[in-house]
Amino acid sequence: MSNQKHPIHSLFKFNAESKESKCMVSGCRDSFKGKYSTSLIRHAEKKHLEEYVHLLAAHKKNNAQPNTKKTVRRNATEVLLQKGC
Ligand SMILES: [Zn+2]
Repeated sequence: MSNQKHPIHSLFKFNAESKESKCMVSGCRDSFKGKYSTSLIRHAEKKHLEEYVHLLAAHKKNNAQPNTKKTVRRNATEVLLQKGC
């Protein structure tokens, strides 16, 4: 638990040979250059907001910040409603 890895990496699998991060969400085949970039986060927020929020919530829980978890969830719900998904 000492490894401060960004939770975004749970959604992507980094290929060291191609140096690309592949989206691991089922039904999604997108991949991106590099192993940590804002494009990964942007993709997760756009396409897999629910999964991403769950990840963030779990991550925050590990860091013992229960208040932030609720905020993230609420924000995500509002975004979803605005998009009309
Ligand atoms: Zn994806």
